[in-house]
Amino acid sequence: MSLSLGTAKAKPGRLTYGTYDLVAHPTGGTDRLPVVIAQGDPRGPVFWLTAGIHGPEHAGLQVLHQLITRELARSLHGTLICIPALNPAGLRTMTRQAYYHDGDPNRLFPEAKPKRKLDPDMEPPSSLEVAYTRLFAEIRNTADYMIDLHNAWTGSVSFVFRDRVFYRNDRSAKQNRAARAAAEKLDAKLAEMCAAYGHSVVNEMGVERYLAEKLHRSSTSAAVNVAHIPALTMELGTGHMPDPNIVRAAVAGLRNVLRWAGMLGGYPEPITGIRIADPGFPCRRRSTPRVSQPCVVRHLVEPGDIVKKGQAIAEIRDIWGRPTGGKILRSEHDGWIIGRTHGIVYYPGTEVCGMAIKDDLPTVQPYPKDYWK
Ligand SMILES: [Zn+2]
Repeated sequence: MSLSLGTAKAKPGRLTYGTYDLVAHPTGGTDRLPVVIAQGDPRGPVFWLTAGIHGPEHAGLQVLHQLITRELARSLHGTLICIPALNPAGLRTMTRQAYYHDGDPNRLFPEAKPKRKLDPDMEPPSSLEVAYTRLFAEIRNTADYMIDLHNAWTGSVSFVFRDRVFYRNDRSAKQNRAARAAAEKLDAKLAEMCAAYGHSVVNEMGVERYLAEKLHRSSTSAAVNVAHIPALTMELGTGHMPDPNIVRAAVAGLRNVLRWAGMLGGYPEPITGIRIADPGFPCRRRSTPRVSQPCVVRHLVEPGDIVKKGQAIAEIRDIWGRPTGGKILRSEHDGWIIGRTHGIVYYPGTEVCGMAIKDDLPTVQPYPKDYWK
């Protein structure tokens, strides 16, 4: 059976184009997702590549335009299904959200537990949530792998967010063992994909905050934890003005992942022109360190720097330029700097950096006991 998505139908050795109906407007017309299918030998795997779910994040769109060529289609063992703009409304208005859904669009994908019957006092799912649920069924039916492209923030390094793999641990011992074994197998694939891509790697946060932030309902966490498809989120540094070095390194990294998946020939390409942080131990994300008084900071670290606990991260002054607080804000962790946060003027409690801190949590974890209730 030939692959298709919306009006785009795969053809061996070709790029094909089409659209997928997303949200119908009350004013007539429909928001449609652009779809590009690149197919080589149709017997190979199916790899979904998506971008632009957050409107100000434009690098992924450019990466896909650079990656998806006729030459690539001809040399592929398998099929790429690409959506360069998952959130057309956000891209048009340069906002993170779509104006027809109040909330982060990347928290609308299905989760592992079955949906409860809708409480009539609660808001029903938005048109966008309904649409992404429908799109996710297409991913689940066809994808062997998935990568979703994002940007973190201005000046941040290029890195991969690796989701933790969760498993059910509340059934019979035999079922629990089987669920854990399957999760470990999937997690090993994620590690291999990260290594093939060759950029810095950041594990997602621990389970409680992750669930509280609804990160388990992101596109790639749903792919991993609901559909059990190896999937990663790539963060491509600065969003509005894509960094050409990161775009180049991401195209090379994605081609390397396709090689790892057996979909493209040749040796891995070197990843050059970007900083790659490898402190020698796994790290997870944390917004840290935070200031404890109103202040103006001067950062003393660069994105990609490896830092030790106690190392000076920023100089702290009041608005008159006098040293304040402890004068120096220090790192509370070993790890590395993903990027400095926007601006230099902060209220107490604000983080001055996004860091990747030493991660001692397992990448495979049981769902919390109360998750299934
Ligand atoms: Zn994003």
